[in-house]
Parts: sequence; structure tokens; C-alpha cells
Amino acid sequence: MVVIHHTAEPSFAVSLRILQTQNSGGPVSSHYLIGRDGRLVQLVSDAHRAYHAGGGTWGPYRDLNSLSIGIELDNNGFEPFAEPQVATLLTLLEDLTKRFPIPRTQILGHADVDPVRKQDPSAFFPWEQLAQHGFGLWPTEPLAEPPAGFDPWLALRTIGYSLKDPAASVRAFHRHYRRSETTELDEQDGRLLFNLLSKLAPEARPR
Ligand SMILES: [Zn+2]
Repeated sequence: MVVIHHTAEPSFAVSLRILQTQNSGGPVSSHYLIGRDGRLVQLVSDAHRAYHAGGGTWGPYRDLNSLSIGIELDNNGFEPFAEPQVATLLTLLEDLTKRFPIPRTQILGHADVDPVRKQDPSAFFPWEQLAQHGFGLWPTEPLAEPPAGFDPWLALRTIGYSLKDPAASVRAFHRHYRRSETTELDEQDGRLLFNLLSKLAPEARPR
């Protein structure tokens, strides 16, 4: 999988310094860092573990650092993501999904895999734009009504979200799919989850 982050730091230079030098104070690293101007730096080889998603879980998967590529975007968390930066990200995702057996649906946000502790990338992150290029799991309109007995919690879990703290997971789901930070499931979530579930390839479903 790929896990996307925003740095929550004021500049590319500050983020680069942290990612390059903070290892003595505990492992902090990511495979890639992308600047607002689209510049791309690789900090860790794709073949090696980076420390960017420790503590996260997705479906049955633990130790996400052992099976994910981490991409940091220079962004303070309170601003839109720059177009050149998104363009570089799209090129990188194309490259990574060609070179590795990463299902194109499994492009995730840090907060998706660690909803209690993390908020990145923010609600400004253009998930819909990624979906237009075939990356990430994204609904297709129109959204049909789910059948009677449809369990939105089971759907949320099947997609990959942990239900350890249900409200935190709903908040992460809303941030990703509805650009909101609310914590309660509603009927629109039911339609969304039913739609998303139908689009999840069998190989990307937890077994
Ligand atoms: Zn992060």
C-alpha cells in the first residue's frame, strides 16, 4: 500500500531536515518528500522499511511500515495542496503501482490507517483528483440505496478501517470522503460505503 502524509511543518527545508536527521531521537522517516513546487526527494529506498506509519492498522494488516511506501507532502495542514505537488504525486503513484504489486485502490491517508492519533492528510487533500487518475477507492455516482440489513460498520471494517475507536474512524472516513470532521454515520455514509464496497477488488479485501 501507499500511505500519504502532510508534513505539518512550515517549509520543505524544515521537513527535509527532520526526515534526514531525527532518527537519533526515534525513527522518523518516509520514502519520499514532495515540495509545493513539485520537487521530489527520495529518502529511503523502496526496498527498505521507512518509519512513517508505525502503530497504524489496515484490515488484517499490522506493522504497516513493513508493507507500505510513505509519501510526505510539504503542507502545513491548513492550506490546499499545490497543483505542481499533486502532479508529481500522480507521476510517482503511476511509477510505484507499475513497479510493485500495489492495488490501485490501496492509496491511503495516514489518518485512514491511524484514525485516533493522526489527521493527515487534511480535508484539503484532493482524493477525487487522484481517483480521476485511477488511484484510491472512490465512489461512482449515482449512489444506490444499500439493501435492507446492510451493515455500514462491517463495510467500514471490510474496506480496512479499524473499529477500535468507531468515532475516530468515522471522522477519518468523513475527512477522506466528505471533507468533514463529523463522527457519526448517517444514511449518506450507508450509500457511500455500499458503493465503495462494490468497487473494492477481491484481492484488496481483507481475508
Ligand atoms: Zn503522517
